[in-house]
Amino acid sequence: MIQAEIKSLLKEDISILIKISNSGKHYLCDCGEASLLTVKEIQSVSAVFISHTHIDHFSNFDGIFRHQIGSGEKIMVCGPKNIHQQIEARLKSYTWNLVDENAIEYEIREIVSKEEINIYTIRPPHWNLELIKKQNFLFEDEYVNVDFAILDHKTDSIAYLFKEKDSVTFNEKDSAFRKGKWISELKTAFENNDPDKDIQIEETIYKASDLFHFLIRNTGFKLGVIMDHNVCEDNYEKIKTVFKKADKVYIETFYKDEDQEFAKINYHSFASASGKIMNECEVKEAVPIHFSRRYVESDKQEIETAFYKAFQGN
Ligand SMILES: [Zn+2]
Ligand SMILES: [Zn+2]
Repeated sequence: MIQAEIKSLLKEDISILIKISNSGKHYLCDCGEASLLTVKEIQSVSAVFISHTHIDHFSNFDGIFRHQIGSGEKIMVCGPKNIHQQIEARLKSYTWNLVDENAIEYEIREIVSKEEINIYTIRPPHWNLELIKKQNFLFEDEYVNVDFAILDHKTDSIAYLFKEKDSVTFNEKDSAFRKGKWISELKTAFENNDPDKDIQIEETIYKASDLFHFLIRNTGFKLGVIMDHNVCEDNYEKIKTVFKKADKVYIETFYKDEDQEFAKINYHSFASASGKIMNECEVKEAVPIHFSRRYVESDKQEIETAFYKAFQGN
């Protein structure tokens, strides 16, 4: 199961931590000021996903790498066009004479277009970028696949969808056989689409396909994070393509409906617009995030009320 926690307080910028249950693995969406983010959590982050580099989404990148340097790990950073140069500039602005080259490695994945991802590496102490390769997908590890949409916010703003991999479980109740290593062999045959594989249970050999009915395929959870975006049809088409029927989506809702003129000027969204697009996407659960810092708690409640009204189709 994938879970997300908002790590910023109302008056802070935005940072969302994504956790994969039963694993120590975390991903971080944007690096705004986030006083709820602990050092321990930062040290468990294996990949950072940046929507865009407006200061409210990127200012705490230094605070993040401050706690990653020295880990010896390789950390992914995905982001929009030129993210590699912006990270290079941030890293080169400090003095690193006491840090050795194995202290950390960043792998930066620059999203040029939907099919074109440039992969760079950068490491201390000189932090010189190296273009390693180009690929046509963004991110995959043992837990998730990450899809994305490139939205317009008067600059590219990447909206990310974390798709947990489907899992296969064994339905113990329906089986009279004694448990054993045949269960994992059966699962492997199922995952590899190999129905003719021989599976030995005690002294008898069975065809894998005759045992597949003991297995249940569990569809992976789909969790989306849509940051700053303009209210326009073009963005909405892209959002619908990627986020349709997702399980849970966090979406930028910077302004109250009565301030929607500001939303237009600043290429942002507002309460009922964000709620409505989530309704059209038929997502199971939607959460408005990233409110203007001039708002107080009562404004936030006003946003939430208008958002959920539109989300429920009223
Ligand atoms: Zn922005
Ligand atoms: Zn923002």
